[in-house]
Amino acid sequence: MNKNLIVLGSGPAGLTSAIYGARGGLDVTVVSGLEPGGQLMLTTDVENFPGFEEPILGPVLMQAMRGQAQRLGVKFIEDVVKSVDFSSRPFKVSVGDQTLEGGAVIVATGASSKWIGLESEQRLRGKGVSSCATCDGFFFKGKDIVLVGGGDVAMEDANFLTKFANKVTVIHRRNELRASHVLQQRAFSNAKITFIWDSVVEEILGKDVVEGARIKNVKTGELSELKCHGVFVAIGHKPNTEILQGQLELDAKGYAVTKELNSSSVKGVFVAGDVFDHVYRQAVTAAGTGCSAAMDAIRYLEEAN
Ligand code: NAP
Repeated sequence: MNKNLIVLGSGPAGLTSAIYGARGGLDVTVVSGLEPGGQLMLTTDVENFPGFEEPILGPVLMQAMRGQAQRLGVKFIEDVVKSVDFSSRPFKVSVGDQTLEGGAVIVATGASSKWIGLESEQRLRGKGVSSCATCDGFFFKGKDIVLVGGGDVAMEDANFLTKFANKVTVIHRRNELRASHVLQQRAFSNAKITFIWDSVVEEILGKDVVEGARIKNVKTGELSELKCHGVFVAIGHKPNTEILQGQLELDAKGYAVTKELNSSSVKGVFVAGDVFDHVYRQAVTAAGTGCSAAMDAIRYLEEAN
């Protein structure tokens, strides 16, 4: 039996599938990818991953998952995947100057938040700049927040953040929202939410923590400054599927298409986490699908060999 399982990605989905694969008797190799540890490496306190009475730092949680996988014999390659060939078995994954061969592959390459693209945004990430209201909203009790975006997620996040924040100012680049009618109405009727239309955040202000945002009206060019403690960016996500083009079926937005729970369009190649799930996108749901993908891979290898 070919017991080689290759896992692409080392966030909660990838590491959970590696742990389950190793405990299922497979030889597991994880290719860590572009952002080792995934999106949790960008967060500070994690309070919604079950099992920790006190908040745990995202990077600490990911280090613990990785240590757990290593203890179980999982091998790690600290590199990015150059290309994959899923056209025949064993499946081939090119990393650096070597080609790995796997009887099964779990793709857990995740998704990355889209960012505005400002230097100040990068510098102040985790210091008031966030792209995850569910993860970080709690830390803005009684504070003023700026939120960028006009889609469903932006409106959901704006409403969610008002549970904690004193005030949420939505900055949208057009004069109408993209969000669905019901989410728009909910936001418009929330007294804590105000809108600044036809505008973009040109600079996030503050040296060590967020202190405000410089806003530019794209129609008039007028600049203004708004004091705030947090800037949430909700302008969409991008699945990390560039290397999968032509190898797996992807939808119009680039997410992997699944046939059953974790099965991709290629038998023996499974998907886990945000690379296919654009709805829940939580560490715990990613870990959950990592588990089911590994169980599917174990069953597949037992039956295929
Ligand atoms: P989205 O629908 O693509 O909306 C992204 C928003 O960000 C748009 O308003 C867009 O402006 C704005 N934007 C994009 N790039 C920007 C930039 N560089 N600078 C400033 N603004 C920028 O993404 P999403 O809100 O993350 O939603 C993703 C998918 O999940 C959607 O299909 C959505 O319908 C779905 N979803 C549904 C629900 C629900 O039904 N309850 C909840 C959550 C998500 P423009 O409008 O000008 O393009």
